[in-house]
Amino acid sequence: MATIMNGKELAKKIRENLKKDCEELKKQGIHPKLAVIMVGNNAASKVYVKSKSKACDEIGIEYEEYFLEETICQEELNQLIKSLNNKREVNGILLQSPLPKHLDINRAFKTISYRKDVDGFTPSSVGKLVMGGDTFISCTPYGVMKMFEEYHIDLTGKEVVIIGRSNIVGKPLAQCCLANNATVTICHSRTKDLKEHTKRADIVIAAIGKAKFVTKDMLKEGVVIIDVGINRNEEGKIVGDVDFENVEKIASYITPVPGGVGPMTIAMLMNNVIKAAKEQNKEDSIF
Ligand code: NAP
Repeated sequence: MATIMNGKELAKKIRENLKKDCEELKKQGIHPKLAVIMVGNNAASKVYVKSKSKACDEIGIEYEEYFLEETICQEELNQLIKSLNNKREVNGILLQSPLPKHLDINRAFKTISYRKDVDGFTPSSVGKLVMGGDTFISCTPYGVMKMFEEYHIDLTGKEVVIIGRSNIVGKPLAQCCLANNATVTICHSRTKDLKEHTKRADIVIAAIGKAKFVTKDMLKEGVVIIDVGINRNEEGKIVGDVDFENVEKIASYITPVPGGVGPMTIAMLMNNVIKAAKEQNKEDSIF
């Protein structure tokens, strides 16, 4: 039976430490603040935004929300971002995805100052991640790396197979694993024989968005499984991308859904806001 990697517990521990950090900053007159922008009425986005504001409240991070009409144009969105870049009291800016189809999310991300890019999505942050500089690491990959650390899973020399190549999960995760000396393969919908890759992997990270996509027959005994996926099954329950019940029988470590990577993502966002507040108030800031 696999060890269940408890992201909920670890995230709680991280949030408790961040709360202390936040109290310390406030004693110095620094009040960390996150600004969240949401465009339109996407139901899932509303849930995510709410959980982020709840986490901010718990830690003591100030929070402001900008709910924009679905019909807003690119220029108006970019103008808002620029005004937040210039607002001294705002330390972090988060643009909730997805955006309505007429808006170009990459243009919007490019507008966010890298000093306030707590999601780690701007070209500057991504470039620094690739080149190995200190930067904001996007929250889901960062959360996954923290889980490896917590469970003493050393990536050196390991075969890591990541299924999914999105800019927010698959690609930055690959960079993080590479930086930790893993041999990384990224698979996607055009990969010819997925099973051939997953079968030899020491670690499989699933970031696909398809319930029960990763099955026991695709894996070797003792594999470490990180399930990033969030899906709803037929009964409306939240499930991951991995057939958890069967895969846990052969895995050495596995993350559950819910209670695995999800809570870590929010904890690392909070971590990045505190980091932003500290860096922006340092004389010798690296940013
Ligand atoms: P995405 O942008 O839709 O990317 C999905 C990836 O899966 C794509 O690269 C796609 O390949 C690949 N894929 C789709 N079908 C495949 C197949 N049959 N075989 C192999 N690869 C396949 O999704 P995302 O934003 O990365 O998110 C992935 C999942 O993680 C979603 O369930 C999302 O809700 C969840 N998520 C969770 C968290 C968290 O905090 N836990 C955070 C972010 C996302 P192509 O590139 O070829 O299309």
